Amino acid sequence: MEHATTPNRVVLELASVARDAAACTACGLSATRTQTVPGEGSPIAQIVFVGEAPGAREDQAGRPFVGASGHLLDNLLASIGLRREEVFILNTVKCRPPGNRNPQKSETAACAPLLTRQLQALQPRVIATLGRHALAVFAPSARIAEVHGRPYARTEDDPHGGAMLFPLYHPAAALHNGSLRSTLERDMAALRGYLNMHAREGAGEATLREVDSVPIRPRSKRQGEAE
Ligand code: SF4
Repeated sequence: MEHATTPNRVVLELASVARDAAACTACGLSATRTQTVPGEGSPIAQIVFVGEAPGAREDQAGRPFVGASGHLLDNLLASIGLRREEVFILNTVKCRPPGNRNPQKSETAACAPLLTRQLQALQPRVIATLGRHALAVFAPSARIAEVHGRPYARTEDDPHGGAMLFPLYHPAAALHNGSLRSTLERDMAALRGYLNMHAREGAGEATLREVDSVPIRPRSKRQGEAE
């Protein structure tokens, strides 16, 4: 899929979204944020990782996934031959929920227009959701324990341009549950396989380039996978 807009237009729209988020008071999270965390990455990214919400470190830095979860995400990306700069990373809400609680439905709904604008600008091939709350924004009826680690659905008429969903567990969950870490590693390898398949179909984009050295661990029992 070609970008309908040029990278410069994408950059301008992403910057516009970041400005609008910084001025946004559409939900109560605006009252407690230090700053907004609009997201970051390549304007030509063909894969977008969508987390749930900024945490304390992100709220201070104004960048997504900068704490321990971010370090693990960086390592997972490296394990499939990708760098953070080659993908785009954002969250369903742009402001930190107090105490790192989960964002409420009213908050994700209030922030949805900003998320939609970002995804419409980026037009990714793949939206990799991180954790069940991010998955719920795109596929409310899906259960992450059942759908993680494989392409889930391609919704041609959705507002996000028909990108394929690829549900993953949240890195924070893997930090707290050792069995989830190996699951997440396997799921990332599966994501690499999916990207390779589409690279061979002639996409040719840098972020979909084929990588053939991904170590794939044997699949073991799925005990304790639910987040
Ligand atoms: S979370 Fe989103 S909708 Fe709520 S104040 Fe922040 S930018 Fe606005």
